[in-house]
Amino acid sequence: MDTQAPRVPVMLPWLGEEEAQAAAAAVMSGWVAQGPRVAAFEEAFAERVGAAQAVAVSSCTTALHLALVGLGVGLGDDVVVPSLSFIATANAVRYVGARPIFADVEEATGNVTAATVEAVRTPATKAVIAVHQGGVPADVAALRGACARWGAALLEDAACAIGSTVGGRPVGAGARVAAWSFHPRKLVTTGEGGMLTTDDEDWARRLRRLREHGMSASAADRHASSTPVLESYLEVGFNYRMTDVQAAVGLVQLGKLDAMVARRRELAARYDLLLGDVPGLRPVRDPEYGQGNFQSYWVLFEPGFPAARDEVLAALSDAGVSARRGIMAAHLEPAYRGHPHAPLPVTERITRDSLILPLFHTMTEEQQDRVVAVLREQAKR
Ligand SMILES: *Cc1c(COP(=O)(O)O)cnc(C)c1O
Repeated sequence: MDTQAPRVPVMLPWLGEEEAQAAAAAVMSGWVAQGPRVAAFEEAFAERVGAAQAVAVSSCTTALHLALVGLGVGLGDDVVVPSLSFIATANAVRYVGARPIFADVEEATGNVTAATVEAVRTPATKAVIAVHQGGVPADVAALRGACARWGAALLEDAACAIGSTVGGRPVGAGARVAAWSFHPRKLVTTGEGGMLTTDDEDWARRLRRLREHGMSASAADRHASSTPVLESYLEVGFNYRMTDVQAAVGLVQLGKLDAMVARRRELAARYDLLLGDVPGLRPVRDPEYGQGNFQSYWVLFEPGFPAARDEVLAALSDAGVSARRGIMAAHLEPAYRGHPHAPLPVTERITRDSLILPLFHTMTEEQQDRVVAVLREQAKR
């Protein structure tokens, strides 16, 4: 007889009957491509993150690409990015023919700061991408001020940060441009999907056009018009549209965001409580200037911890717990072999010595206790 409890996943989207019905309603309406539900999702999303405009796209990767095109970044330009991020952050810079310049991060948050960007910035630096890594907000007040002084545009990669706050306001509020993800690893999911937010209406209009082949009138506009609309193609654009089926799911998910963040913060606080006295293990915390959504609850093993990160990962796996290595570092991947960069000691330490623990909306205390038991056991080796 198998007495083993089911595996504890590292992440599980919180989807249910309501999302299924919303998707079914979109299908039954006969309008499945970008249409009224995308427009409604954009409006609700902009309001939620405190931005004037939101432009839905097919992923955060395409959102980052479009944002860089919109900012006029291209061949001969440099863009400062953290290496400690999902690889899409750096890749987007390559898509427009610009050069990623890797900046180190601060250990407490895993994020770039005005000082780490300043240390590597070049005269050709046209933009900076700051990532709110794992949902921990970056210090955007300082970064926005520094970028304004340098004459560089600040693009916020907020893929992980829906529901996180800075200075009491949502991440995204006041951003020149922020890019968001609805991949199932993030809190709010539409399967695949992304969003751009900005306060600049003209700019949002251009991004809307760029996501739809550079067309002067959107397919939805033409369809809604009773007289023929002859579109023209004003510049070379892309097909980065979201579907109405995805937006229908997104609208339901957005309505659950407050509950998602509250539950994740509750579970994170319980991890803190149960792991707080383990020597050599440092859990991620809120910075002074803001609050995270705990999309990723990661722990850093300090030199005093008796087991190596990969040994802990293996012990968790043996105990039926799925964890993940810490946040990746792009400069260590084959895709960036030979790409010159300054020393990145903090990035390399975090990616080597950190671990992302399971945390999901429906996680039980019993499941969390199983994770904690393995970590406490490893600490006594
Ligand atoms: C997930 C993620 C992305 C990519 O998002 P997609 O929607 O999957 O394209 C980009 N940047 C960061 C920091 C991410 O975590």
